[in-house]
Amino acid sequence: MQLNPDELIRIQNLKVVFPLDEGTVQALDGVNLSIKRGRVLGVVGESGCGKSITARSILRIIPDPGKIEEGEIWLRTKYGTADGSEQVINLAQIDPASDLMRQIRWGEISMVFQEPMTSFSAYHTLGDQISEALLMHRDVSRKEALRLTIEMLERVGIPNASTRVHQYPHEFSGGMRQRAMIAMALICNPSLLIADEPTTSLDVTIQAQMLDLMQNLRLDFGSSIMFITHNLGVIAQIADEVSIMYLGKVVEHGSVMDIFHDPKHPYTIDLLNAIPKITGQKKDRLVAIEGNIPSPFERVKGCPFHPRCSRIIQGICEAQVPPKVDFGNGHLASCHLYSD
Ligand code: SF4
Repeated sequence: MQLNPDELIRIQNLKVVFPLDEGTVQALDGVNLSIKRGRVLGVVGESGCGKSITARSILRIIPDPGKIEEGEIWLRTKYGTADGSEQVINLAQIDPASDLMRQIRWGEISMVFQEPMTSFSAYHTLGDQISEALLMHRDVSRKEALRLTIEMLERVGIPNASTRVHQYPHEFSGGMRQRAMIAMALICNPSLLIADEPTTSLDVTIQAQMLDLMQNLRLDFGSSIMFITHNLGVIAQIADEVSIMYLGKVVEHGSVMDIFHDPKHPYTIDLLNAIPKITGQKKDRLVAIEGNIPSPFERVKGCPFHPRCSRIIQGICEAQVPPKVDFGNGHLASCHLYSD
């Protein structure tokens, strides 16, 4: 497989299922997306649309009993070759427990989770845990690993880093823990940083600081970022391109300008309308998207958004899967409104 020269990773027709006693959940239903080198892709959608499972599929850490049923995850990597040259490999075909996948995890692709308290061990100091990532993936001594850890904690804005490196996670505030999580994710200088709702549990001031920090670190390290969120306001600040997901599919993709100024898919338009505005009247009600995401065991026929869509074309949208329409400049949307 050939990736475009500016492409770092490309996901093609990825399908992930969870076979359960109650039935099979189709968590991803043919996801296609691509992340360019040094760029930020925002992945947006309501809870349950498949954003986090897409990220976990890339890292091959899908929780049991989930499994990749079909599709490819092509990554450009320097791991797995004898001379350290670049190759393109299909992560979907690699054993999740293999040495190669362990090297890629954290060495090439790292992840920042929504709640760092669940990612850090409560029994070890933050310094030990961050140094451990370096010791596993880089050829450095323990002393050098500690020095680089302190340097990285300083870069992410943790004051008194040489003292705090010896403290435990519970001694940090939520914002500081999230900074430490970012330090751990970046310590091996990964090609791709996956940030899964990294600012959701933070107040707006800390949230703004974290977004600035990630932007600066992206410029310093040249890493690509996959930024997962349900908050379109955050996406406007940080992303270059946006993929909108609904029920395990990417329903619209485009540049930030296209998505915010010329959205095509009714779901994207509804998400944008649901952003609270400060210009409205006090008595105006907040706009919400009608209906709910269907039960995970339900397979919706035709367009997955049709039960909630205000622009549904009766007789077509419930029966036929909408084609992907190309609006130029990489702006794509799957909707019958624009097809012949
Ligand atoms: Fe709405 Fe039909 Fe477009 Fe689906 S295909 S988003 S139901 S108009």
